[in-house]
Amino acid sequence: MGKSIIIIGAGIAGLSAGCYGQMNGYRTQIFELHDKPGGLCTAWKKGGYTFDGCIHSVGGLNPKFKLYHYWNELIDMKKLKFFYQDTLANVEDENGRIATIFTDPDKLREELISIAPEDAKFIDSFIKAVKKLANFDLMPSKPLELWNPLDYYVSQFRVAPVLNHLMKWRKSVADMTKKFKSPLLKYIMNSEFFSHFPAYFLIFSLGHLHNMNAGYPIGGSLAFSSLLEKRYLDLGGQIHYKAKVAKVNVNNNRAIGITLENDETHDENGIVVSAADGHYTVFEMLGGRYINREIRKLYDDHPIWPSAVIVYLGVSRTFDKEPPVIELALKKALVVDEHSRLNRLPVTIYNFDPTLAPEGKTCIRVILQPADYRYWHDLRNSDRQKYKQDKARIANEVIRVLEQRLGNIEDSLEITDVVTPATFKRYTNNWQGSIQGWEWLPRLIPESMRKELPGLRNFYMVGQWVEPGGGVPTAFISGRNLIQIICKRDKKKFVTKIPAKY
Ligand SMILES: Cc1cc2nc3c(=O)[nH]c(=O)nc-3n(C[C@H](O)[C@H](O)[C@H](O)COP(=O)(O)OP(=O)(O)OC[C@H]3O[C@@H](n4cnc5c(N)ncnc54)[C@H](O)[C@@H]3O)c2cc1C
Repeated sequence: MGKSIIIIGAGIAGLSAGCYGQMNGYRTQIFELHDKPGGLCTAWKKGGYTFDGCIHSVGGLNPKFKLYHYWNELIDMKKLKFFYQDTLANVEDENGRIATIFTDPDKLREELISIAPEDAKFIDSFIKAVKKLANFDLMPSKPLELWNPLDYYVSQFRVAPVLNHLMKWRKSVADMTKKFKSPLLKYIMNSEFFSHFPAYFLIFSLGHLHNMNAGYPIGGSLAFSSLLEKRYLDLGGQIHYKAKVAKVNVNNNRAIGITLENDETHDENGIVVSAADGHYTVFEMLGGRYINREIRKLYDDHPIWPSAVIVYLGVSRTFDKEPPVIELALKKALVVDEHSRLNRLPVTIYNFDPTLAPEGKTCIRVILQPADYRYWHDLRNSDRQKYKQDKARIANEVIRVLEQRLGNIEDSLEITDVVTPATFKRYTNNWQGSIQGWEWLPRLIPESMRKELPGLRNFYMVGQWVEPGGGVPTAFISGRNLIQIICKRDKKKFVTKIPAKY
């Protein structure tokens, strides 16, 4: 029997590490606090509707890119159906003017030039970058931890054709738009979601949506993560649900196993991998004993992807003429909590996934971000009544705005659900209810994040807390990479069916 690996967390990273561990002859077990797989990549049912908790779009759907072949090792990609968006969003300003952010660069150019001919020079160079980066495969062929000097040398040539674009567009979208002549163009490009990220993130997103390398899996996020769970179980892996890990057991600075919250101990003397929240892992499960200045500074200073309040509505009508995503301007700011106010409302109308609602009915999701973790966590603990009232207040406000824009919302409303930062913490244990780990900011990417902790042997971390920017594909690759690293250390050939060119 192979060496044992205990994995903490059945999110995408934990399931990926589990699958590749099994495929490579390790004996793995996953301990998960919730009763379902997927972690943040989830969904739930309420009153006949399935409310999706995660994926707008997931990357790696086009066989021209390495990621597709990696997914395909675990999931039969040809059997899945995806919805490929031809628009990123329809952005509406407060005067009701609409701009469509097409994913097709030529259509986008036409749209933006018609709105802001005075910014044509910028628009043309932006579109040129979208076309160029759309075909660039970012994914290295092996984990950076296993790179040798030759890999670094070769990578310069790989990146060279797009380097000028990566350098030019590394500032944030907000900075990029500062010099625009047209205030309307500035408004359109500065969506709530993309505004403070490096501009190349927006450029890559548009390009990869257009070339069908990114899309939404029909059936939703839980259906998608359940495919990884199934593959893991088929490979002989074991998942223990409702099993919260309280402590990583250490002997002589070597991880040997775990203790659950109910005091059950599993000391297998193999490897321990945390695919769970980073802060909880480092400071609770390991009591903060294995850190250095870099790690301390990371957790003290580096911004994390904020939490959110999300309003879900189940309505007994369809929206055949509406686009999937509308970003609405609010005449009056929506107060989310003491520290968060929003002027724009991103609305997803799930008219593209008939599996989520009964025929003739539709799910709507509105993400209100940022939301203040401390406020919602403390309120839930101290005053459950007020917590519920606050959730209802926000839902009512969202319903009012949607009634004005879409009509016939109140009368067709069947179900409402509201999740808060406290919900994210309870169901996934993510630090401060963060929905994607570390923020991926210009010049703030903590390159030195490592999967190991100083002074501790036999222990690794994977997932969004060791891969800045987070995301479903990143978590998946993080688990895959780790097993490659472990195989290398154990002097085993990593089992993969992927041709060498990938
Ligand atoms: C609203 C929303 C929209 C998103 N949209 C996208 C998108 O469009 N595209 C995209 O790529 N990404 C998206 N993401 C981000 C993406 O979901 C995450 O970055 C990714 O799923 C993180 O995976 P992970 O495995 O690293 O972590 P997690 O999903 O957090 O998994 C960690 C797992 O560990 C478990 N756990 C934690 N502590 C313990 C413990 N002590 N004991 C046992 N188990 C424990 C948790 O319950 C969880 O199952 C979105 C997220 C949200 C919330």
